[in-house]
Amino acid sequence: MTNHEHERATDLITRGPEELTGLDAAWLESHLAACSECAEFAGLIGSTEQLLRSVAVTADPALVALTQARVRARAEQLREHQTRVVLISISFCIGVLASTASAWLWWKVGGWVVERVGLPVSIVGPGVLLFWLLPAIAVAVLMVVVPTPLLEKSLMLSPAREREGEIR
Ligand SMILES: [Zn+2]
Repeated sequence: MTNHEHERATDLITRGPEELTGLDAAWLESHLAACSECAEFAGLIGSTEQLLRSVAVTADPALVALTQARVRARAEQLREHQTRVVLISISFCIGVLASTASAWLWWKVGGWVVERVGLPVSIVGPGVLLFWLLPAIAVAVLMVVVPTPLLEKSLMLSPAREREGEIR
């Protein structure tokens, strides 16, 4: 038997039975009957294919479910992180706006209030600082008073639910 014949047999075996013409299949069958080396190779390929198929079938639903669950968990994690960043940004903007508004208000009416109540005019200046800090202090006090898990839950869940609604 020539090397060329073995090569042809190997090629036909790796191509798989469904790819072979009747002539090739007949030739291969006769070669395998006469050549133990190629027959062994054919057997090995056949059992490997069978093994791969059975592994794929048994692993498929479980593996797919696990992978999907992991991908979903990761997406959820990313979404949560994103929500947190958005919330922090919003809180920061609201804080800056509230501080500015409060300080501006004091700057506009502080002098009048001091005069009306009869306090020394020298407290108008420090008053601006106080009113600038007041919203931040109020938020800080609120965060200390309201239990954090409750606050976080209500803040975190609403955007997450909205997004879930979008997906559905
Ligand atoms: Zn052979």
